[in-house]
Amino acid sequence: MKIIGTTSELRAYGRDPKRRRVLVPTMGALHAGHISLIRIAREHAGKKGEVAVSIFVNPLQFEPGSDFDRYPRPETQDEEICRAEGVDLLFRPLPGDMYANDRSTFVEETTLAEKLEGASRPGHFRGVCTVVTKLFHLLAPEAAVFGEKDFQQLAIIRRLVRDLDFPIEIIAGPTAREPDGLALSSRNFYLTPEERAQAPVIRAALLEAAASNEKSAREITAAVRRRIESAPLARIDYVSIVGADDLQIRLTIEPRSLLAVAVFFGRTRLIDNILLG
Ligand code: AMP
Repeated sequence: MKIIGTTSELRAYGRDPKRRRVLVPTMGALHAGHISLIRIAREHAGKKGEVAVSIFVNPLQFEPGSDFDRYPRPETQDEEICRAEGVDLLFRPLPGDMYANDRSTFVEETTLAEKLEGASRPGHFRGVCTVVTKLFHLLAPEAAVFGEKDFQQLAIIRRLVRDLDFPIEIIAGPTAREPDGLALSSRNFYLTPEERAQAPVIRAALLEAAASNEKSAREITAAVRRRIESAPLARIDYVSIVGADDLQIRLTIEPRSLLAVAVFFGRTRLIDNILLG
């Protein structure tokens, strides 16, 4: 596995146009969700292709006062995971290398990014779009894999690729979960044992909503709120039903309606979603 820590080294390394390169962008603290994306990348790259993983805790996508400093960075463990998964190229630059101090150019999606996560986390998707654009330029992959857990990010990246003509196929990977249903996330690491014990209520509420025959978005979101609020440590940020592709609010359930939630447990904010209809 080739490990590259700077953009200049990456440029010097270049790439073999005959090998299909598939990129998995991450912020590290790799877990089974990331591993499932790496395996999807390998399937798409083929045996002779090149699976590239980037690990970069991107300061631009953390809102002021959020968890940038305490975000976990288990570098050796991440490296071992990548090696064990047969990753060909690990790119892990430092913020000072990725961003000049006087940087003044950003990439912003202006419609899909306004709602849901974007409303709760101002500047977040601008940071995501800027870093993903840079990674796409630096690594020039033929394809990139993103998780459905961050469905809004996925929709925004598809829009970015379409609007800015990146010749890159975007592949979606399903959400990997703990046995009790909690979506795997590097942020689960922050949960206290009490919070961790209550967090599976999110998945339970989403599954109950998907199993009901209810077609009214208002009824469904009310039931989901009640169910999540039955956990004393849960504090709901949003419960929304939107179209999975346009992210527009849906009043009644139709095909590809997506139920999306964000819930605080203490200081930790968890997100999850499920397709309805
Ligand atoms: P992160 O390191 O949290 O920025 O995530 C990197 C990529 O992994 C993103 O495309 C996420 O959507 C994806 N991801 C995060 N959690 C999961 C999960 N539980 N299952 C599948 N993919 C995930």
